[in-house]
Amino acid sequence: MTAVQLKTGIDWLTQELSDVIRLFLGDVTISDAPGDMRIDHAHSEKNGEWIEYVSDGTFGFARHVAPTDDALEAKRRIKRAAKNCLFELMRTRFRFSPPWGSLTGIRPTRLIYEAMEQGQSLDEAVNRLTDEFFVSPEKAHLLKDIVTMQQGCIDPPEDTFDLYIHIPFCVSRCAYCSFASLTVGKGALLEPYTQAVIKELKASAEMMNVLGLRIRAGYVGGGTPTAIKCEQLERILACAMELFPGAVEWTVEAGRPDTIDREKLSMLKRMRVERISVNPQSFSDETLKRIGRAHSAEDTLRAYALAREMDFHHINMDLIAALPGEGVSEFRDTLGKVNELRPESVTVHSLAIKRSSRPHEQLTVAGDSHNQANAEGADEMITLARTLLTGAGYRPYYLYRQKYMAGNLENVGYALPGYQCLYNIGNMEETQRVLAVGAGAITKWLFKRERRIERAANLRNVEEYIQRVDEMAERKRGVIFAYAPSEGRSALD
Ligand code: SF4
Repeated sequence: MTAVQLKTGIDWLTQELSDVIRLFLGDVTISDAPGDMRIDHAHSEKNGEWIEYVSDGTFGFARHVAPTDDALEAKRRIKRAAKNCLFELMRTRFRFSPPWGSLTGIRPTRLIYEAMEQGQSLDEAVNRLTDEFFVSPEKAHLLKDIVTMQQGCIDPPEDTFDLYIHIPFCVSRCAYCSFASLTVGKGALLEPYTQAVIKELKASAEMMNVLGLRIRAGYVGGGTPTAIKCEQLERILACAMELFPGAVEWTVEAGRPDTIDREKLSMLKRMRVERISVNPQSFSDETLKRIGRAHSAEDTLRAYALAREMDFHHINMDLIAALPGEGVSEFRDTLGKVNELRPESVTVHSLAIKRSSRPHEQLTVAGDSHNQANAEGADEMITLARTLLTGAGYRPYYLYRQKYMAGNLENVGYALPGYQCLYNIGNMEETQRVLAVGAGAITKWLFKRERRIERAANLRNVEEYIQRVDEMAERKRGVIFAYAPSEGRSALD
């Protein structure tokens, strides 16, 4: 494996600069020990300006930064300048330019919102991405479309939160899965889990009542929520809806088509859940078998037809680009079928091969260089998805990037106008508080005025979660009530 020697006098920059190196070189070893390549970063001050300089012995790039006394802002300016210098160096040396430029964060829309808050127009903010951060015009345009679709949904009312409930069970495990999820097995944990979730919901409702907050959107994800018994899911939903009435949107990720039947759909209808997911991932049976999905394309069509027959008005479909063994033609076929079905929203993921998932091992063991070799293919598939879906009237409305993603690409949510999922936007853009319940669920409490998010993570292990559910509620309470009113601030600051 290639080894890169990285020298910087600023410790906290090491990770940031390493992320830029990996945009070009993939999963390389980076340390301050001698390696195949050496990169030096230096921070200095001259004539009242800060100077960031990055060199590899052959090329060198510098940026001048206006100093500031604001510690956070200083860090931001130094980080951006140093990363941009390094990006210029790497693209000069390796003669290619990754599409997201020097941006390595998971929420690139944030830079647009930041610039708009400083008084720039949307067009000016988008141009800044290409001029300052080397983002390709295509990606900058994608972000512009997303920000446009988010208008009216991005700022939730001050006195609201969104609720997330995690159901960590699936009927079988997909090969690429890196989520906190167990197979249902004989179902011994289902009832204790249902009871624990209900207990946590009740404790959480008390906190929201003290704060006078009301629910905006509810989301039940997994795992596969419909993998548990119908009556258990109904009890969870009934409890949540009674404790948190008045949500303008409820989503249940039905997800795997092999868990969807008339009984469960009737229950969801009865509970007034209008948004559900029926996720094909691919319409190729060979691919589904290869990735261990344990359902067929026919199952997806059947589940979708049943949901339509039962009058569900918002169905989302998840697809994955760059699945093992799939090329552009298989993905084109899947997109064509989705466009024929015309769900109200479509989420296109790029296969993120994380170290914890089986394909990473399997594909490496099998000598299949899928991860890197398919990167260009993944890029083409993502572009194809955009062309075909926007051609059919869908618009991108949220996006996030992930580490280890094939081709360093992105996940994009598309929707027909008017069908943007509020929960997805609030959660992805971090503009809404998320109260989360269930094993592995993470409460993200937004202190809006301070622009700060505090997290309370529940235990991922289902048995431990069940045993220690009271402690989960306490963790949440600790974060949400972090500020005593006597300090002049509250949990709503
Ligand atoms: S359905 Fe989703 S959560 Fe369940 S095993 Fe497959 S990828 Fe993992």
